[in-house]
Amino acid sequence: MRPAIVVHGGAWAIPDSLVEPHKEGVKKAALNGWEILKEGGSALDSAMEAVRIMEDDPTFDAGIGSFLNEEGRVDLDASIMDGDTLEAGAVASVYRVRNPIKLARLVMEKTEHILLIGEGAHRLAKKMGLEMIDPSELIIEREYRRWKEMKEKGYSPKRAFVEDSTVGAVAVDSKGKFAAALSTGGTPNKMVGRVGDVPIIGSGLYADSLKGAAASTGHGESIMRVILAKSTVDMLGFGLSAQAAAEAAIDLLRRVDGYGGIIVIDRKGNIGYAYNTPRMAVAYVIDGEVKVSI
Ligand code: ASP
Repeated sequence: MRPAIVVHGGAWAIPDSLVEPHKEGVKKAALNGWEILKEGGSALDSAMEAVRIMEDDPTFDAGIGSFLNEEGRVDLDASIMDGDTLEAGAVASVYRVRNPIKLARLVMEKTEHILLIGEGAHRLAKKMGLEMIDPSELIIEREYRRWKEMKEKGYSPKRAFVEDSTVGAVAVDSKGKFAAALSTGGTPNKMVGRVGDVPIIGSGLYADSLKGAAASTGHGESIMRVILAKSTVDMLGFGLSAQAAAEAAIDLLRRVDGYGGIIVIDRKGNIGYAYNTPRMAVAYVIDGEVKVSI
């Protein structure tokens, strides 16, 4: 099968000043994921590596540079799914690891569980030798200022519409295996303990090598109500193309007045994406050619 990778760097009102860093960030992630596919590597490794790169890029709301929660701490969620085995792993509310996507994969591969949160997730990270960090290492000046301003001016959940930047990737490898990966700091100034769609398998992401793969971004509370990613992959199973399924997914999101975006790959290796926000950062590589859209 023809390998392909699509990545997103969030769907929101990306301001002109942040367009270039978003373009560069998604392009770099897609190309790194592609390098793995090109060498015959797996879709799982490719999607994970693409997301890891964006977690390390402070441009995005994932890993370092994420939004702070109401108490001024970065709280991260991530998930990964292997479309061949339908195995999945996820973490929520972690703040002592640099790359939650690596931890999500460890949950998938090294435990009998799918979702670990907070302290338990940190214990697994330590046990497996992941680098542990001080939570303050995830906070950057830009986000600290944003948080201070929100505290001073008050915060409306609607503001999340203009400030969301989760990262995700879907990939298919030369053996026809699909995978999806997703990582986020969630919504700005979120309640302590709030968990969005990202670690909820089927809402944030889904991959099934018999159908395809999808990864969402946007208002998590809306995405969860329509089980967005699984619904999208099911539409692929019913014969919709990647693009038609992506567009139908956004219609589903409208049903709950939600906003966001989705990236999709179907069994033919076609890619699709759609969003109902002002902008969405997307990059994809097919046949070695990278394309960026914002
Ligand atoms: N979906 C994420 C969440 O609600 C946010 C985003 O995609 O930007 O946690």
